[in-house]
Amino acid sequence: MSTSAERNARHKRAMQRKKEHIDGNIAKATIDKGLMVVLTGNGKGKSSSAFGMLARSVGHGLRSGVVQFIKGTWDCGEQKLFQHHQLVDFFVMATGFTWETQDREADIAAAESTWQHAAALLCDPDVNVVILDELTYMLTYGYLDKEMVLHAIESRPPAQHVVVTGRNASTELIEMADTVSEVAETKHAFYEGVKVQRGIDY
Ligand code: ATP
Ligand code: MG
Repeated sequence: MSTSAERNARHKRAMQRKKEHIDGNIAKATIDKGLMVVLTGNGKGKSSSAFGMLARSVGHGLRSGVVQFIKGTWDCGEQKLFQHHQLVDFFVMATGFTWETQDREADIAAAESTWQHAAALLCDPDVNVVILDELTYMLTYGYLDKEMVLHAIESRPPAQHVVVTGRNASTELIEMADTVSEVAETKHAFYEGVKVQRGIDY
């Protein structure tokens, strides 16, 4: 047998084994349920991943809700795209970044009133997907009661998916979640002096 033929045969055997392994795992995954996904870590890509799932969900005709707990000073493309979509209820906290407001009392009041929208979505079985963007900071800063938030997520309708984003997700959020991704920062253009870029950053 030529070297190339041997290599092709080895490749075929390896791919067959891989396919058996993957098919076996697929066959074992039989549970259908609402997932809790946590996207955390210091790297870029948490919110944009959550909005990627929103795009998928809307593409499938699923009803979705978005609550953004920190509003940036720039107008996000995802908000422009989805806020008037008939399948999406979109709520944004009225204040800016916490280090811009520098007003703890006002931030707490804004967090609590914004949470009411999240709580309503987490009770509504007609809402298939709920995105809680930058929720982790509300817990880190103690703006929202941790037990209240955890209980609302835990007792949501069984088929409802919930996606939580933000740095430093707490142990409790991570333990409760079904899927957790930690986005690591390998590089970020910002540290090379590059301004936020429309479409990529917001
Ligand atoms: P994105 O919304 O792009 O997915 P993210 O949700 O992971 O980012 P955030 O911490 O919410 O990250 O930051 C939002 C904004 O800050 C984005 O414009 C993003 O490019 C920028 N950013 C994200 N990570 C970093 C970082 N490590 N250093 C500086 N800027 C960052
Ligand atoms: Mg984000």
